[in-house]
Amino acid sequence: MKAVAVTPKKQNSVHLVRMEKPQLSHIKNGRGVVVKVLRVGACGTDREINNGEYGVAPKGSDFLVLGHENFGRVVEIGVNVSELDVGNYVVATVRRPCGNSIYDTIGLQDFTTSDKYFERGISRLHGYMAEYYVEDADFLIKIPSTIADIALLLEPLSIIEKGLKQAADIQERLKIWQPKTAAVLGTGNVGLLAVMALRMRGFQVHGFGKQKRDGYLNAELCESIGATYDSTENLPLVESIKEYGEYDLVFECTGYSPIIFDAMQTLNENGILILSSVTGGTRKTDQVPSDKINQMFVLGNRAMVGTVNAGREHFEMGVKDLALCEAMYAGWLGQIMTHKVVGLENYKKVFEILNNSAEHKAIKTYFEVKEI
Ligand code: BGC
Repeated sequence: MKAVAVTPKKQNSVHLVRMEKPQLSHIKNGRGVVVKVLRVGACGTDREINNGEYGVAPKGSDFLVLGHENFGRVVEIGVNVSELDVGNYVVATVRRPCGNSIYDTIGLQDFTTSDKYFERGISRLHGYMAEYYVEDADFLIKIPSTIADIALLLEPLSIIEKGLKQAADIQERLKIWQPKTAAVLGTGNVGLLAVMALRMRGFQVHGFGKQKRDGYLNAELCESIGATYDSTENLPLVESIKEYGEYDLVFECTGYSPIIFDAMQTLNENGILILSSVTGGTRKTDQVPSDKINQMFVLGNRAMVGTVNAGREHFEMGVKDLALCEAMYAGWLGQIMTHKVVGLENYKKVFEILNNSAEHKAIKTYFEVKEI
């Protein structure tokens, strides 16, 4: 079968490889599921891996098959799989237990303390940019056919769901936290999904991006789901609280780390800031009003938390939000899926769009490996 791979740490090494089709017998205990890949998304992480900045090949391999945003159909199941049938649509989670952290042992590998984590398509395990994959049923999420067309968005949404679950768990400290307003920083694919997930929970949501509002599809998408959109060129984040008030929750997904210090100054008393950008660079910033920020956090019991990856429960929360959003704002999620490229052999096109997403006005770029 065909697959799209890179040579990790080598810049622009993306290429096509031929591999054996994975077999059910590769998974022990009869829990294997062979999945025919229908769609695979490409995101900033894939771009970084192809830039040679991130990614690790599996042991014994000199290449890494890319792809962690996935959607497929079950074609074969092991004798001990009762929760899935041939023909079901599924999305696979990304991280697998590594065995040397207590969190992995109890199934919370998204909270691993090991820096040698195992993530399909990213770190030490081949990914889903292939015609088929085989996986243990424990790591597959069943997708209702009514949301098949947008279920590729589940993996990036799972990251948001985990962030919101962490915030809710932390805010249990308050006994009656009743958040009403939120700011979402960055309105790319992940930011828009954060806007959506917060709107599904009834928040008043304020989206912020760099681009000017007029003619910007992402701004229109914020507004058509009942959020506001402002360009930080016109309304700097710290100034925005004069217009909207301080936020109960701020979700950072810009990839631009200096903004977190602005974000820290926009929280309400008891508010929480969630950080989700993986910033691999070496950027530094000064002019941080450290006394002000420190005092705000101390006197206002404010909190900040980082979040990465997602577990099964976050994917399951995501399925519900996707279905609710389709029911409330039919077609909205489909508008995020702007750039479809048919066939794995057209990987150069996918990476060209990914590397120039602003010019292409691309929100989500993805392969259609096989028609749904
Ligand atoms: C993926 C996560 C992963 C993270 C760090 C993100 O793009 O969605 O599953 O944990 O990268 O590797």
